Amino acid sequence: MKIVYNYFGDDYMDIFCKIINGEIPSYKLYEDEIVLCFLDINPDTNGHCLIIPKKHYTDINDIDLDVLKHIFDVSKKIKKLLEDKLNIEGLTYIQNNGDVQEVKHFHLHLKPYYRNNEKKPVEEIYEILTK
Ligand code: AMP
Repeated sequence: MKIVYNYFGDDYMDIFCKIINGEIPSYKLYEDEIVLCFLDINPDTNGHCLIIPKKHYTDINDIDLDVLKHIFDVSKKIKKLLEDKLNIEGLTYIQNNGDVQEVKHFHLHLKPYYRNNEKKPVEEIYEILTK
């Protein structure tokens, strides 16, 4: 498998490219050479986070399948983190394409479910997940 990390060389820079590039801050939960996981800035539930590839792919049409597999492998680590630290009672995966996709950089949403969801500020959730 050959993965090229050439997002710096691309002319196109979306908001998630800028997060990868360090131009915009994020509540980072996990990073390796292929992906980044951070909390969604406008979460549906506590711990709602996104996993993105560092190389720019737009959506399900152009993403490399090896990268996609890696994203799902990493999602299991994040799922465990959410279970251990936030006691989630379910987890929904969402991946939007086309008109329903706001940010045109492939991302997988991990959206925790709680029987009783008392929403807390993102900063507080980040503290819990990273301490
Ligand atoms: P969608 O493209 O519709 O699948 O969703 C894009 C998601 O990205 C939304 O849930 C936004 O709240 C989230 N989002 C947009 N900008 C940022 C940011 N700077 N940091 C974290 N999450 C973001």
